[in-house]
Amino acid sequence: MSDTIVSATQLRQNPQDGSPHVVLLGAGASRASFPQGDANGRILPIMCDFVEVLDLAGSLRDAGIDPKENFEVVYSRLVSDRLAGDLLQKLERRINSYFSALTLPTTATHYDRLLLSLRSKDAIVTFNWDPFLFDAYRRNFEVTQGKLPGIYFLHGNVRIGCCPDHDEWGDRHAACTTCRNPYWDVPLLYPIEKKDYSTNHYIASAWREAKDSLGSALTLTIFGYGAPDSDADAVKLLRDGWFGRSNREAEHVEIIDTADRQMLYGRWESFTPTLHLHFESEFRNSRLWRWPRRSCESLFYPSIMGQPCEDFPLPNTSSLIELQQYCSEIARHEQP
Ligand SMILES: [Zn+2]
Repeated sequence: MSDTIVSATQLRQNPQDGSPHVVLLGAGASRASFPQGDANGRILPIMCDFVEVLDLAGSLRDAGIDPKENFEVVYSRLVSDRLAGDLLQKLERRINSYFSALTLPTTATHYDRLLLSLRSKDAIVTFNWDPFLFDAYRRNFEVTQGKLPGIYFLHGNVRIGCCPDHDEWGDRHAACTTCRNPYWDVPLLYPIEKKDYSTNHYIASAWREAKDSLGSALTLTIFGYGAPDSDADAVKLLRDGWFGRSNREAEHVEIIDTADRQMLYGRWESFTPTLHLHFESEFRNSRLWRWPRRSCESLFYPSIMGQPCEDFPLPNTSSLIELQQYCSEIARHEQP
């Protein structure tokens, strides 16, 4: 053991290969990242104000449904009602068009910061339908020479399509590079009790790869994900992945969330047998923000070598270019 501090320069210049940092991203992260809405002031819904924000109340009322009822419950009931086909289609069209139209501001956002703080060995898994992660990925790809984390949309996304025959996916309007056929839309999986994760080619492979990353992860960050009851099966699958190769007795789980801590303990204690949960209410205090692209090193040196690490936080700037320059300079020391 040694008390020598590992300097920021040492950390930046000597990235370790190794286990991934996995981030589970929820709708709360989008709301926290865009408190004033998207580039055009459109508000990001969370489940409790979903009907209001997407203006679905009229359609529900016309069908004799109380718009104040929990939307997940309503949706679940409509799916099992064969006579509700027209209303379902109408709701789905509205949901698709609302989320598709959302636009990233031109300034640096938390989605840029999140992607630029992670490396190609890392992964972000999300149930979010909004396009921000996909759009931020595209605008940061070149500046890092593609050294960005894997991104997995476990409930589909409004921006993506996939080839039904080949292991390819991307922009919904693009084509498969193998067979040249246009991509098929990846369906949005709605809040119903029994979700089907195996029929769609993309969804099946996203789950497989997400569970694989979770199994080998050194650390997990859960950012703004409320784990609603309708996602109970999904959360169980994620937990199975997390415990797939380890009993997690030396786990490191960080929760970025503004909810009450006791409640958060209750929500996530099954991921941490020794209850070492670390809470932050703001992304700017997180491990990723303090040690961009070296978050796993910032855990390794103190816990294995007894050496604290000097931090080198992301610049406090709204300039996307400044943020990209800061992170691409760190990425320069990493293998392609
Ligand atoms: Zn194809």
